[in-house]
Amino acid sequence: MDHNHIRPWRNIARRKSRQIMVGSVPVGGDAPISVQTMTNTDSGDAKATIAQVLACAEAGADIVRVSVPDTDASRALREVCRESPVPIVADIHFHYKRAIESAEAGAACLRINPGNIGDASRVREVIKAARDHGCSIRIGVNAGSLERHLLEKYGEPCPDAMIESGLDHIRILQDNDFHEFKISVKASDVFLAAAAYMGLAEATDAPIHLGITEAGGLMSGTVKSAIGLGNLLWMGIGDTIRVSLSADPVEEVKIGYEILKALGLRHRGVNIISCPSCARQGFDVIKTVSLLEERLAHIKTPMSLSIIGCVVNGPGEALMTDVGFTGGGAGSGMVYLAGKQSHKLSNEQMVEHIVEQVEKRAAEIDASQEQAAE
Ligand code: SF4
Repeated sequence: MDHNHIRPWRNIARRKSRQIMVGSVPVGGDAPISVQTMTNTDSGDAKATIAQVLACAEAGADIVRVSVPDTDASRALREVCRESPVPIVADIHFHYKRAIESAEAGAACLRINPGNIGDASRVREVIKAARDHGCSIRIGVNAGSLERHLLEKYGEPCPDAMIESGLDHIRILQDNDFHEFKISVKASDVFLAAAAYMGLAEATDAPIHLGITEAGGLMSGTVKSAIGLGNLLWMGIGDTIRVSLSADPVEEVKIGYEILKALGLRHRGVNIISCPSCARQGFDVIKTVSLLEERLAHIKTPMSLSIIGCVVNGPGEALMTDVGFTGGGAGSGMVYLAGKQSHKLSNEQMVEHIVEQVEKRAAEIDASQEQAAE
């Protein structure tokens, strides 16, 4: 339930941006903030890439990016685009021909920097291919690959250099009367990325793709992304996000959703509220939560579940969740449904029973939403 009207401290005023389409997914304006990831298979191997795209889509990815470094990859891309349930972004560096081939292969968006692909005629060819095939473009400025003249002008990668690079690329697209673009200014340094994004948000109304690039492994990259993306999203900046981790892309999707969930910007699946546990716990909180995370991974309906070890915080948390369980004494605890105390439950039956309750509540939420839509 959305209580933001009575909890104004939770409100985030989103920056107003233009809306573009990445295939069937709107990006910018009042569209939900989309979650992206990128495959790390050999893009020339269509079968492996499709399998990974499907796994990412199943985890909730709205858009998936695939790198297209060579003609094997652009050939395989046709099959990937055909089999993918979500729009595919073709990631191109320098090779304008790969961009044209990707547009022809069915990519929904090209990630390419028009200033880096050569003379004006090549730029025109790529833009024509994008236009002819209904592709949008993402300009992707990266602190690690700034143009030489900007590095000479500014001395090192800095927010102003990144913003200037982005605006230069934007100008090229606008001069060609192409406006279906979004833009990112990524850096692995959280401060640099955040400052660049803040400046960019002032300088353009284009939709913004957020990311902390090369953020690191699962744990350190998650923390960096949560700080960088989290702060920007909290300021209202960002229309689509990608968490970059040296890990399975499915993990990137999950973390992306967790960041959006924590800020109340988007919900998917069960938001589990659980205590860290201590000597007061009436059951094994850590083991139970890990079992429930596994057993409830298939639920897509946005809902909340509180699993709290004892009555110190249990009843209070349960008030605000769809399903709640609070540990008690003598091997049993209390189940709460829609914030109200419902019935006692033994610890042994807990996992099975809570899974049933969550599935039931998810079905009810889905049915009421379908009814409202009708
Ligand atoms: S809710 Fe109870 S069991 Fe959980 S950490 Fe707090 S005091 Fe400990």
